[in-house]
Amino acid sequence: MTTSETPASALSGICETHLPGDPGYDAARRAWNLSVDQRPAAVAVPGSVAEVQALVAAAAAAGLRVAPQNTGHGAAPLAAGGLEDVVLVRLAGLSTVSVDPAARTARITGATPWAQVVAECAPHGLTALHGSSPSVAAIGYLLGGGLSFYGRAHGLAAGTVRAVDVVTADGDLLRADATEEPELFWALRGAGANVGIAVAVEIDLLEQPDVYAGMMLWDREHAPGVVATWAEWTRDLPESVGTALRVMSFPPLPELPPFLSGRDLVVVDGTLLEDDARAAELLAPLRALGPELDTFARIPALGVLDIHMDPPEPSPAVGDHAVLGPLDAEAVATLLALVGPGTSPGLTITELRHLGGALARPADGGGALSAVPGDYALVCLALAPQPEAAAAGRAAAAGVVRALAPWALPARIATFTDTLEDPATMFDPASWQRLTALRDRLDPERRLVANHRV
Ligand SMILES: Cc1cc2nc3c(=O)[nH]c(=O)nc-3n(C[C@H](O)[C@H](O)[C@H](O)COP(=O)(O)OP(=O)(O)OC[C@H]3O[C@@H](n4cnc5c(N)ncnc54)[C@H](O)[C@@H]3O)c2cc1C
Repeated sequence: MTTSETPASALSGICETHLPGDPGYDAARRAWNLSVDQRPAAVAVPGSVAEVQALVAAAAAAGLRVAPQNTGHGAAPLAAGGLEDVVLVRLAGLSTVSVDPAARTARITGATPWAQVVAECAPHGLTALHGSSPSVAAIGYLLGGGLSFYGRAHGLAAGTVRAVDVVTADGDLLRADATEEPELFWALRGAGANVGIAVAVEIDLLEQPDVYAGMMLWDREHAPGVVATWAEWTRDLPESVGTALRVMSFPPLPELPPFLSGRDLVVVDGTLLEDDARAAELLAPLRALGPELDTFARIPALGVLDIHMDPPEPSPAVGDHAVLGPLDAEAVATLLALVGPGTSPGLTITELRHLGGALARPADGGGALSAVPGDYALVCLALAPQPEAAAAGRAAAAGVVRALAPWALPARIATFTDTLEDPATMFDPASWQRLTALRDRLDPERRLVANHRV
């Protein structure tokens, strides 16, 4: 090893590799979440599964660990856990998707985003339990649980995973499903990168060519009525209805549509797996509040990826999260005192996602994460282009989470957790015990690094 060489230099013969100080290092390490300054020992961009296997073996020989990353939507806790001795394995070069319409399954590899998966499914009248964002990678989402608008009807998206091709901590390539490597298959569905680098997943699809879906929008001055009505409305909805409520504040920006730019808003969006008449009947209490904009209608299932208006391009966000139980009038008042009319919450988005239904029921034959407790997921986000804004945004988000603590459960949803937290809070106690024992057996040296580290 010469003076300029580091242990990570050993990887450069395997595939495209960027080391600190290399001209391409900064571009290669950039996460989708631009507020995350991740500085790994190296960034490796394999072009084949064999190269992933070789990377895992070479990293171990060099005393380094490996962390798979598709997009970096979930990079904040990964970076916060420290990456000095970690090789970031970016899987974009392996991305493909193929749909088997007869079997109603899809095989997804690498960092394929949901937009591409859902677009391949749509011509066959099929869709998947995708989340709100088109740019999130299917594999990172699926192996972290995956909370879809369809989840109250169909459960966590991890429950649709039928098989995983996975590179283990030893560099072996295994197929894990209900009969082959069942314990590894169980752990992958929830603990993902803690037990292997998934290079392909096979999922079951939904037969759903179109969906009653959309959003309603009001000026934030209507937040008291909208939040109280939505909280009441979500108390006894059928499981076919999956919605989110958000209080949003946007600076005036030319790239935003006029109905968002420079506005403070309250928005309800989601899907109703019902016929048009029943959907309209169910939405009546919200429509009675006279939304300024109401796009709820039957749309092609592909369009569901657009209703939440998640940013299409990488953006800098910081935030906090909690799982809440039922929201009484005092909870609604507490939330409104912080983010309602006349306040300056310092947050871009304060979101409540409706949980319950099939999301709360452990799935038969499910994995380490097959259900989530609670009635609502609270997610608070601030756009933070500079470090000072990040500190203020984190404090504002933590403030809302703290204020709602009396209604919170001691639980967290893995895919919504962007802070460094004890992952034990993301699993039920029995699954957590089984998972840690398995991790000790499969990867005693902790060579594999996930964003939420078991
Ligand atoms: C705008 C936005 C909207 C979102 N909407 C939703 C939503 O509706 N529902 C929801 O549940 N979540 C949502 N999320 C969260 C998102 O699902 C998680 O951050 C998810 O982990 C992102 O996956 P990724 O692969 O794109 O991200 P990455 O940061 O690349 O990966 C995140 C983690 O996934 C694991 N992982 C990634 N690739 C592999 C692999 N090949 N093998 C094993 N493990 C791997 C690793 O632990 C990794 O650290 C949203 C996030 C954003 C930013």
